[in-house]
Amino acid sequence: MATTPTQETSRLGAIIDSCREIAQDVNFAAAKQWLQENPGKKAIGCFPIYCPVELIHASGMLPVGVIGGGNQIEISFADSRFQSFVCSIVKSTLELGLTKRLEFLEGMLFHSICDPARNLASVFQRNFPTMFVDYIHFPQNFASPLARQYLATEYRRILDHLQQRSGYAPTADDLNHSIRLYNRIRSGLREIYRIRAETPHLISAAESFVLSRAGMLMAPEAFEKILDEVLAELPGRPTRPKDRIRVVLEGSFCELPPVELIETLEEAGCYILDDDFLRGSRWFTEDVPIQANPLFSLAESYSERACYSGTKHDTREVKAAHLINLVKEKKADAVVFQAAKFCEPALFDYALYRKTLDDAKIPHLLLEFEEKTWIFDRARSEVETFVESLLFD
Ligand code: SF4
Repeated sequence: MATTPTQETSRLGAIIDSCREIAQDVNFAAAKQWLQENPGKKAIGCFPIYCPVELIHASGMLPVGVIGGGNQIEISFADSRFQSFVCSIVKSTLELGLTKRLEFLEGMLFHSICDPARNLASVFQRNFPTMFVDYIHFPQNFASPLARQYLATEYRRILDHLQQRSGYAPTADDLNHSIRLYNRIRSGLREIYRIRAETPHLISAAESFVLSRAGMLMAPEAFEKILDEVLAELPGRPTRPKDRIRVVLEGSFCELPPVELIETLEEAGCYILDDDFLRGSRWFTEDVPIQANPLFSLAESYSERACYSGTKHDTREVKAAHLINLVKEKKADAVVFQAAKFCEPALFDYALYRKTLDDAKIPHLLLEFEEKTWIFDRARSEVETFVESLLFD
């Protein structure tokens, strides 16, 4: 039955509202509901940035993005396990565990992104001895052809551990089925980002953020349907362009900024055309090929078709050049570098980005954030001043 534009718009609004609720739920109700509906199945938590979720899915388990507690929990116990100069996501993720919010998980996967993440994996092993905790070592030397072979072997090791937990040994067909499913999801997210960059009034950065985040907390099959609906509804959304500057946002690839902070940036006069929020959910720039050896295909894709990131040290490419290209490709006026406080990978990158942006005469603004923020007046006035300096230059 045909629907009126108003109904289409309200349906889109309802989807986004529901995703916002899921995205901010530190009790993981959506994942727990899946477990209730699938008796005997298990769920595995995935710390950022990129996790090979296909390995978990093909083993018959649910991958769940565990990415800190945002501004939804108080840190009461985790402070005693970490130094004060450690980023918030590490503490709030541990707090989720110490407050028993992660008891529904069979295990957690961490990755070699930085020292705090490595330490967090060890702290989890020490504090939750019955939980399956593993740590994926990604290759560091992408120039070597052995990097892909090494990573395929690392994935084999992880898969063996996962199947011990799930009781099911996935076949190559199972893995390729999961790769196809996540290819469709990544492609849907890339399409939302393309629409946002070309017509930023149709969907805001805060809206695409809650959509992507909710997708990491539910069954991928359910999220694929949501993405299809959003993509069908978006072109008809009755919204008008506003007088805003066009920016690319960089530096928030791991710890999640409060949704309200993203909204503040937008309300202060920015169209955020592209960002690196939840980078892991859009890790590949194109589909992972379907091959007879799916583990090698995933490993090769990590090396050959992954996006650039502050936590991926690829000496074959200059990260700052990627950022400049992104600014040109999106026809952005400026870059907002929004880094989590104490995030070394992001802040090290900033030094390099800053010089390259200065040399290219691209205006930029640095904002630091912490998960636990509720008042955004300072960020608002900094961004408003930045926007005015560009609009009335
Ligand atoms: S926010 Fe930065 S420092 Fe903290 S875990 Fe993530 S990448 Fe590491």
